[in-house]
Amino acid sequence: MIQLKYPIPQKKLECNYLKSLFSTKFGQGKNGTTVKQKFDELKSNNSYDVIFFDISFEEIIFLKPENIKCFTNKIELRIIEQSKIEYQTIENEKKFIYEAKEKLKEVFKYKDKFQEPISKFFEENFQTRTCYFCNIHFVNEYKIDEENHQNEFTLDHFYDKATYPYLGLSLYNLIPSCYTCNSKLKKNEEFKNLAPSSQKYDFETKVKFKLFLDDSCKNLHIKSKDDIDIALKENYSNQYDKYIEIFKLNERYKVHKDIVFKMIENAELYPESRLRELQNLTGIPFQQIKKDIFNLIDENEDLSKQPFSKLIKDISEELKLI
Ligand SMILES: [Zn+2]
Repeated sequence: MIQLKYPIPQKKLECNYLKSLFSTKFGQGKNGTTVKQKFDELKSNNSYDVIFFDISFEEIIFLKPENIKCFTNKIELRIIEQSKIEYQTIENEKKFIYEAKEKLKEVFKYKDKFQEPISKFFEENFQTRTCYFCNIHFVNEYKIDEENHQNEFTLDHFYDKATYPYLGLSLYNLIPSCYTCNSKLKKNEEFKNLAPSSQKYDFETKVKFKLFLDDSCKNLHIKSKDDIDIALKENYSNQYDKYIEIFKLNERYKVHKDIVFKMIENAELYPESRLRELQNLTGIPFQQIKKDIFNLIDENEDLSKQPFSKLIKDISEELKLI
């Protein structure tokens, strides 16, 4: 729903990310190795060198969302080809594929070792507050256990790490998301070309919340939230239909129709003449009063900062408040 905009220049961001990854090591003390060294170690084995001979650690970690599909196709094919070279029976080929994935999982495993530094990296470099898929829930968790009391992000692997273990730590494959969206995404492979981290992701401009009134209140005398309906509508194409369906966005937003109803109520309560009166009484600029009363979102504001900001922005346009 909201495009993930990276807040600092790409080189600096990627440098910070590598520092986070290298802050934790495999093994203790002098013998500890970084994840990059661990990957190079794996490549020193002939089978894996054949699969990754032209691919660097950095290339995997900083794969752009637009290129992931092509990349995974290439790697998956190489793994299968290598299994055929090394083994003659189907059963052994399957065993090779399984073991290869397990080995890659060991290197790029997100959980345990890397979850904490990556959470911290997102916390320090992004001011993300809400889920990029739904903009309904917050993504910051306050983790409480005996040793750690800290904020943590829920991060989704857009291409799931069980199928593609080598993408477990890839920066642009990680999307801050809520538990509800995370669980829905896992079951679906159909819209993988639409990652919020992609530069081509244009849900915000293409798809808008529309307000529908019950037939009985076409004159805008809306008495309750049951008199209205809201739905996401895409302009000129339907590439986000599946996306809306999978995350159940229309159904989930209907539960929150009261936000829109409150906006309509306020619009009736505070016509322009009333806002001008308030301006004269308080000396506060007209636009500021309007912004405060209707909770308006600024043109270039990052919509991921607060829940329902896309809904409020789109409905404000519908109600001609902005
Ligand atoms: Zn969500």
